[in-house]
Amino acid sequence: MEAKTKDLWVFIETNEDGSPKNVGIELLTPGRMIADKQGGELVAIVIGNNVGVAVKEATEHDADRIISVEGEEYQTYSTDAYTKAICTLVEKYGPTSMLIGATNNGRDLGPRVSCRLKTGLTADCTALDVDEETGNVAWTRPAFGGNLMATIQCPNHRPQIGTVRPGVFKKSIASEGHAVSIRENIAIDPSEIRTKVLEVLRDVEGGDVDLEGAEIIVSGGRGVGGPEGFDTIKALADVLGATVGASRAAVDSGWISHAHQVGQTGKTVGPKLYIACGISGAIQHLAGMSGSDCVVAINKDADAPIFDVADYGLVGNLFEVLPILVEEIKKARA
Ligand code: FAD
Repeated sequence: MEAKTKDLWVFIETNEDGSPKNVGIELLTPGRMIADKQGGELVAIVIGNNVGVAVKEATEHDADRIISVEGEEYQTYSTDAYTKAICTLVEKYGPTSMLIGATNNGRDLGPRVSCRLKTGLTADCTALDVDEETGNVAWTRPAFGGNLMATIQCPNHRPQIGTVRPGVFKKSIASEGHAVSIRENIAIDPSEIRTKVLEVLRDVEGGDVDLEGAEIIVSGGRGVGGPEGFDTIKALADVLGATVGASRAAVDSGWISHAHQVGQTGKTVGPKLYIACGISGAIQHLAGMSGSDCVVAINKDADAPIFDVADYGLVGNLFEVLPILVEEIKKARA
């Protein structure tokens, strides 16, 4: 379809209580930049039930306009209801581009919407810009196992759609905001929703691991040597009030659950402090943590590539270094 405007849309996914998921608010940051470069408005699309908080947060984080669709049928995510709502809005307003958070639901919604609208989607982007020559969004994402970064454009179809993982961008500083809010009624007949949520089960192991929102992360890799090695990682995490992360090597070895994995096939994180212990620094791991403000690496190999991205490096055995750090932190706090 043809775009009717130069507007950029950000889909703000909501929780069951109507509050926004962080990633939607984070995406307003690159959304602002793209909308400005493309000469359009930054529009937040909020779908859910009782979405007042989500609308307020989108306003505070720079949206020019907010279009909300509310109702009990939208309280729990369903592919059918959300796809219909977004496609109806796109056909009415005709945005030129759309950003969706690569959460489980976003990864389901994005491809379905792009297929229905017969347009392209670039999944799991790690950087966004606007191509100066063509004016298209330049979607950058890892390719060939993360060994290459590919920049993709969608020249012939609109809207251009991309998904971006949580934690890749940071929220802008909140301000009073100036957004105009519009409410759209898009009724869904229950028969249109072909799946029914019977029960929501919490993932007991790892369900509470919030790596994307963590301010401090202590991560362990193959160098921790086994599942019991993570006790040493946890001891440091406990004194720092940090969340435990892991490399894929540690996860694949079965030492810790996948919910803790940082990297290309794990979570993308952006803490204030990231402490990598016994992690070599493979490109796929760096893809998930290079947005950290400060990186500390502890590794017994002075030539480990992790030291290339570290702000502070400690060459040594983590089982000797970490207990000393824990003691010193405790002493400093006493
Ligand atoms: P290693 O590379 O084996 O490094 C272990 C390090 O520990 C070494 O540097 C060693 O010197 C150090 N060490 C050993 N003992 C000690 C000690 N006692 N004290 C201090 N240091 C010690 N990886 C990820 O992490 N996340 C991903 O999401 C991810 N996705 C991938 C996707 C694809 C498609 C592919 C192909 C790979 C992916 N990988 C990912 C795997 C990645 O390529 C590496 O294999 C992995 O990151 C290595 O983990 P590691 O650093 O823990 O292990």
